Amino acid sequence: MTDSPDDFDRTVPFAKVALDQIKSLRLSAAPRNYEIWYHYATGYNAPLNAAINDKLAKRGTLSTDEIDQLHGQFFAPTRLGEQIETIGGKVAGKIEQVIAVLDTALGSASRATESLADASDQLGHAEDDATIQGILGDLISTVKAMESSNKELELRLGASKDEIAKLQQSLEEVRSESLTDPLTTLANRKCFDDGIARMVAQAKARNQALSLILTDVDHFKRFNDTYGHLTGDQVLRLVALSVKQNVKGQDLAARYGGEEFAVILPETALRAATTVADYIRRAVMGKELMKRSTREMLGRVTISCGVATLHPGDTVQSLIERTDSCLYVAKRTGRNQVICETDPDVSPVIEMQIA
Ligand code: GH3
Ligand code: MG
Ligand code: MG
Repeated sequence: MTDSPDDFDRTVPFAKVALDQIKSLRLSAAPRNYEIWYHYATGYNAPLNAAINDKLAKRGTLSTDEIDQLHGQFFAPTRLGEQIETIGGKVAGKIEQVIAVLDTALGSASRATESLADASDQLGHAEDDATIQGILGDLISTVKAMESSNKELELRLGASKDEIAKLQQSLEEVRSESLTDPLTTLANRKCFDDGIARMVAQAKARNQALSLILTDVDHFKRFNDTYGHLTGDQVLRLVALSVKQNVKGQDLAARYGGEEFAVILPETALRAATTVADYIRRAVMGKELMKRSTREMLGRVTISCGVATLHPGDTVQSLIERTDSCLYVAKRTGRNQVICETDPDVSPVIEMQIA
């Protein structure tokens, strides 16, 4: 759920661990350092923790260079930013090359046009065969030179075209990586934010229905505390799979936050969206969890869902808030259930929020 006071309880202990680490290693508390140590404290990014532990085991501390390198390696936005800059630089370089090739081609074409105009002028005044032969000889060499410069041009443009196609593909890969949540491979929050703005505008313009589902794993903190964050991560993958398997077509399924997922359903009324949410809920509940490494059975997790549909006066924000209120009611009245905006328990909550 958004802006939950639980976020305070969840994040402050991690922040404290991060600052204690910084203090005990006598490092700078600059944002980049802090970000690394905060993530280290959460333990969610196992490869990052392994890399840090490895360095600590060797030298007992981390140098600024090592922090920079870890940041570049593990924090995707920076890495993506750098990749985009590199690809952008290469595209600019390629465009300059193509312009140079075209300049050369235009230069040789205009020289050829001049030679042809000269030849036609000279032919008009030619009085004997020998002069005509000479003019024709010059013409043939001009045409041959043009032919070979055209071939060269074709080769250079062909090579540039291939490189530009490769760069286009790299850009597409980077773009898709920047919109995907790495843990679950669902759309990430940025993709959700862009998607809901676009889809709500479209639904309004076309006067079509649109519904939104928000889900949150029940008692997930307890699960993490009992079985550890890595096992918790596996559960998030499993919940994501249940979401993926129950949406289709133009629906957009996203990881909305830590253990929260969202599905935007264009052209879908409240009742149908509520049914989808219940399929997801049943799919999650239907999976018995087993820890891969030990084959220990871990029981089941459940999710709660809120569902709302777009009204004429809605903004993206008001739709999300109403869906969130439904999720809040689902949690408060027992969890492992789907609550939609027409359920009787929901209106007092919404009225209370408006007041
Ligand atoms: P509720 O039923 O009220 O939702 O209880 P809860 O314990 O699920 O709710 P709370 O918001 O208090 O806790 C959410 C927990 O989700 C806290 C955090 O440990 C866990 N979490 C958030 N993101 C991740 C993640 O990426 N991986 C793992 N393993 N756990 C996460
Ligand atoms: Mg939550
Ligand atoms: Mg939860």
